[in-house]
Amino acid sequence: MPRLSEVIAALDALWPPSRAEQWDAVGTVCGDPGAEIRRVLFAVDPVREIADEAIELGAQLIVAHHPLYLRGTTTVAADHFKGRVVHDLIKNDIALHVAHTNADTADPGVSDALAGALDLRVTGPLVPDPSDPSGRRGLGRICELEHPETLAAFAERAAQRLPATAQGIRLAGDPDAVVRRVAVSGGSGDSLFDTVRAAGVDAFLTADLRHHPVSEATQQSPLGLVDAAHWATEWPWCELAAAQLDEISDRHGWNLRVHVSHTVTDPWSSRFSSPGAPN
Ligand SMILES: [Zn+2]
Repeated sequence: MPRLSEVIAALDALWPPSRAEQWDAVGTVCGDPGAEIRRVLFAVDPVREIADEAIELGAQLIVAHHPLYLRGTTTVAADHFKGRVVHDLIKNDIALHVAHTNADTADPGVSDALAGALDLRVTGPLVPDPSDPSGRRGLGRICELEHPETLAAFAERAAQRLPATAQGIRLAGDPDAVVRRVAVSGGSGDSLFDTVRAAGVDAFLTADLRHHPVSEATQQSPLGLVDAAHWATEWPWCELAAAQLDEISDRHGWNLRVHVSHTVTDPWSSRFSSPGAPN
């Protein structure tokens, strides 16, 4: 049975913390390096529901994509919702480890998992990491479709393949436009529009798109925009990452039980369409 420190060393080899953005807060939030690890739970958000699931499951480690504390804190008192999570985890001998922007830019990383969920063939990163001689690491991915399809069919594919959320999939642009090459980026992608346009792709699948950037992007070029829930675009990474840890566990004879949380932690809970709204 591996110690937490051994499992963390393996995870850090997949997603070196040194490759996280300056502003990010990745690594181990709580946990005893000497603790024995038998079960691991992968999830996007380190929220109360995921802590409860880990306790129920008897896991000793949660690997989350989003940081619990991005901006630091001076208290983990249990009367705050984040402190409550820390208390519940420590009381139940559960460690929490975060791989965020270091997992976004990894090869394979968050956007490879998103592309894989939609059966897209990745041809390279959207924003290559200049320090990577292989040219495979970086933010987002450029992908080719096996067969050209309409923007509407591409959005429908995203709706079918990504986990269900209240938002579903929103589309901006001509639904009948033909799509051959696309860019995908798990999480918030509207800062990448200039790069996406320069890449000359037909469509961009990402999350958290806002009125002004989308309005300007669609006025400026015929680029199709496909907007999914942030959680849904990053959830496929949990399955990819769990498979990677499974493989490492087999190789070391660790016999870890590796789980992926199916709890929907997208904060949006419902959606209501006005009569006559476009569908
Ligand atoms: Zn995210």
